Amino acid sequence: MSLNFCILASGSNGNCSVIWTEKTAILIDCGCSGKYIVENLDSLDISLQNLTAAVITHAHMDHISASGLRLLRKNNVPLYLHEDIFRDVFRKYGKKLEECVTTTFYEDSRIKDIDVKYFDVHHKDANISRAIGFSFSHVVNAKQYKVGYVTDTGKICDKIIKNLVNSDILVIESNYDRMMLNDSFRPYDNKRWVISDWGHLSNEDAADAVCEIKRLSSNKDSLKYVFLAHISKHHNTPELAMQTTRETLLKKSIADVKILTTKRKQKCATIRIAAN
Ligand SMILES: [Zn+2]
Repeated sequence: MSLNFCILASGSNGNCSVIWTEKTAILIDCGCSGKYIVENLDSLDISLQNLTAAVITHAHMDHISASGLRLLRKNNVPLYLHEDIFRDVFRKYGKKLEECVTTTFYEDSRIKDIDVKYFDVHHKDANISRAIGFSFSHVVNAKQYKVGYVTDTGKICDKIIKNLVNSDILVIESNYDRMMLNDSFRPYDNKRWVISDWGHLSNEDAADAVCEIKRLSSNKDSLKYVFLAHISKHHNTPELAMQTTRETLLKKSIADVKILTTKRKQKCATIRIAAN
């Protein structure tokens, strides 16, 4: 028995990850092309028929693309949606969403042998009314293993931290470097939104959140892997994101966390935990 996790793509070009056990496979966001998702699932030996469900963080196109939605629709993959996110997606895709198998997502849902809990994050604009993060838990030999997942949030509050403590794998947005964003060509209003409490998370804020999650985790073996996700193409580099989190962890004498950066169009290494 094992719990496996892989990020297929992360960033403004498209977001998609998959978490799976022997019985269950859940797609997290489907913001890439259907072809890309199929090819990458194939390389992990996961067929579309084996997808138990897809869950969606919010209705921005890089998290639910027309092509990704078509893939789910054609293959009858059940789509678990918070009711506000259903409305946001419906505004964008209309009837195409109605033709999907959809289920309303409740705060604590169990999808076969994976417990899925959602919580609010801070990300909103004229097109989306709500965005959520997830924690996925799976029990092996009476021990609980957990994956925490937060991308696209303007800030990290105590409630988000509380939902992420004791994660074995953590995915957290490390979107922008403050100086690079400040110097960038982007329109002032867009920059203002990115740095606002409803936009995206800076490298520094991501690093501080990782430290706080580690500090508050009662299981001191937790947080084995941290993926720095949704790294901006224009206002960040994987190296800067990595360096910021590494240095911040070192200052707090945290040395047992493996930090990884995600890629925009290439899947990351698969992490297998809870294997026996
Ligand atoms: Zn977004």
